[in-house]
This record gives sequence, C-alpha cells and structure tokens, in this order.
Amino acid sequence: MATAVGEVRAAITAACSRAGRAPDDVLLVAVSKFQPDELVRAAAACGLRDFGENRAQALDARAVDLGDVPGLRWHAVGPLQRNKARIVAARAACFHALDRVEVADAVAERRREHDPLAVYVQVNIAAEPTKAGVAPADLGPLLDAVRARPALDLVGLMAMPPPVRVADDNRRHFAALRELGLAHGVRGLSMGTTDDFEVAIEEGATAVRIGRRLFGDRPPV
Ligand SMILES: *Cc1c(COP(=O)(O)O)cnc(C)c1O
Repeated sequence: MATAVGEVRAAITAACSRAGRAPDDVLLVAVSKFQPDELVRAAAACGLRDFGENRAQALDARAVDLGDVPGLRWHAVGPLQRNKARIVAARAACFHALDRVEVADAVAERRREHDPLAVYVQVNIAAEPTKAGVAPADLGPLLDAVRARPALDLVGLMAMPPPVRVADDNRRHFAALRELGLAHGVRGLSMGTTDDFEVAIEEGATAVRIGRRLFGDRPPV
C-alpha cells in the first residue's frame, strides 16, 4: 500500500510540475468501493484522509466501520437517489455527483443542521446516453439552484468520461469541463481516475478520484 500511495503521489506531483501547478492544488480522493476495510485502514495509515464510495449505503457502512480512525473525510462519488439523500447529508464531507435539482433539494433539506456540504455538479461531458450528469446546455439553471441553497457549497464540476485505451483520448473532455467551469465561474474540477488522472491534472483537475491504482483491482462482487 505504501508503495502504491507513494507512486500515485509522485505521479500527481510530476503532472502538476508539467502543468506549472502546485501539487497541493490537487486533492487525492482514494476510491475504496468494494475493497476490504483492511486496505482502507492501510491507506489511512499511509496518510490518506479522503476516501470515496460510489454507493450511499456503502459509504454509510464504511464510515461506521472506520469510525475509530480520526480525521477521515468521506466523498460520495456516485449518482444518488433522492431516498438516500439522508445518508450523504449525514456522512459525507463532499458530494461529487449532483446532477438534478430534486437531489439538490433532498440533500440540502437534510443538511441544515451541519456545515454546508461541498458539492460538485456532474456533467455528462462526452454526451453518453447511459451516463449520469447534466447536459452542458442545462448546467446554468442547476448551478443557480445549488448556489441558492445555503446548505450546499458549490465547489466545482465533475465528469467521468468513457474508459479509453489511451489516456490522451480523454484530454478533450477534460479541457471541455475546464472551459465549462470558466464559463460558469466555478473553479473546482473533479476529474481523472486510475486510467487518466495525469492527463486530467494537466488539464486542470483539482480533485482526482483514484481506486485501482491504489488498492489494486476490485474484488469480484
Ligand atoms: C470507481 C470510480 C472511480 C475510480 O475508478 P478507478 O478506475 O478505480 O480509479 C472514480 N470515480 C467514480 C465516480 C467511480 O465510480
């Protein structure tokens, strides 16, 4: 685990220096979905504090199981059903996949007792028919809705472009997300996974969501 964490940190630093950026401008979110608790504990022992889960119930269980480890921040990285909003509102420090006003309402309603929840709005940047995310043309009204809710703190945009054989093939999608962020006045960009995080950083990512490169292949479910 220490080797993998060190390699990922070094790759992030190298990508930042190619882009003339400071390494602490990029948050590493370790996506622990489907991994055993022992590996997540090992990653925490290597100094990682930000962990991502793609399903609300898994995030809930993980936050309970690792409740004895101080200072962990839980990131909800997958699409959310309205009826699971309570879990994200109660457990998460950050929600990366907000893509509908109804979900914004549901989460905001249940977050009122806490600090505002950091949110990224997910954009379907490659216009994939089956992918979550708001269409770029519909982004403005959704951002307005998020900004109008004090329980939500809009930090940026998120995208999950298609898997590609060559990381560089997703560069245009990452660049497009950056341009959308500029056009809409949001700076944060949650983009880049195991296969393409270095390209994403070169194109401006401020948070990368990395699973397999840290934890190894996910066990079959
Ligand atoms: C699984 C997942 C990741 C991490 O993917 P890896 O290929 O394991 O790095 C990132 N973002 C989301 C939304 C995911 O579901």
